[in-house]
Amino acid sequence: MSETKNTPFLEVKDLRVEYFTKEQVVHAVNGVSFTLEKGTTLGLVGETGAGKTSICKSILRILPDVGARIPSGEIRLEGQDLLKISEKEMRAVRGQKIAMIFQDPMTALNPVQRVGDQIAEVVSLHMKGTKEDFKKRAEEMLEMVNIPKQRYVEYPHQFSGGMKQRVVIAIALACNPELLLADEPTTALDVTIQAQVLKLIGELRDRLGTSMILVTHDMGIVATYCDTVAVTYAGSIVEYGTKEQIFDHPTHPYTIGLFGAIPNMNVDEEWLHAIEGLPPDPSHLPTGCAFHPRCPYATEDCAKEGFVKPVTTPDGHTCVCCHIDEVLKGEK
Ligand code: SF4
Repeated sequence: MSETKNTPFLEVKDLRVEYFTKEQVVHAVNGVSFTLEKGTTLGLVGETGAGKTSICKSILRILPDVGARIPSGEIRLEGQDLLKISEKEMRAVRGQKIAMIFQDPMTALNPVQRVGDQIAEVVSLHMKGTKEDFKKRAEEMLEMVNIPKQRYVEYPHQFSGGMKQRVVIAIALACNPELLLADEPTTALDVTIQAQVLKLIGELRDRLGTSMILVTHDMGIVATYCDTVAVTYAGSIVEYGTKEQIFDHPTHPYTIGLFGAIPNMNVDEEWLHAIEGLPPDPSHLPTGCAFHPRCPYATEDCAKEGFVKPVTTPDGHTCVCCHIDEVLKGEK
């Protein structure tokens, strides 16, 4: 399908992802839909196991060949459904149109290959040129992520964690992808390095005009880097809107719980607030609203199949909850 003026840059529709063994099926992503406009950043927010990484891997089509499947859904990049194209066509999309920064730079790099060669290799797969051109591009990318090009010849073990993640960023951006999937890019780094790496990703995104999906559980990161926000819970998006809508008027009880868990530095409290209970087992999801076992507003209706549907909140964003009037009154 060709792109029209109204075609979103990226459109994910009713995406489902399952992991399966002989004994059980894990429902990792359960009917997720969202759009991303060109040059903007969407924050995918939620606890570990909410399906955020599976969504990104589906977009890049790098789910494991064995034990994973996408039973339904569409992933349209500029109108083209990535789930329908051949593996050969998809190889051209990876790296050149879509690239991903993984959580852990320690495992994302090849320990026995020089860092510069790892960048040059990606460039050689997607761009035309000579060995010298690829090397030159790799050196440029190293400098772009603030690593002197003289370190091209070094190996990952000679780099600190933050520098390794900068190399991973250089690899991801080496072919000027239009869409960057950043999957908790600072989780494995120590706190002092996290801010530097995020700042670098933000600066490069702005300079190169890259669209981005930023996976995080940190609302502070969302506030700084995202335009729109999708709050995920148990493989579904439970609240979706612009950053302002979600931050100014959080409406889903889970989102309210996430904001409530942020420590207030101006208040001297003995205990941090947490959302009661644990996320559900994705191989045995609760019926109806998957949040109902933990929700202070839950009623019997919340556990009924098909009862809980997306509604539009007073400020125009989407919330999947059947009791938003009560939630907005804040009666619990
Ligand atoms: Fe809570 Fe019910 Fe709303 Fe789910 S639908 S978030 S259980 S009030």
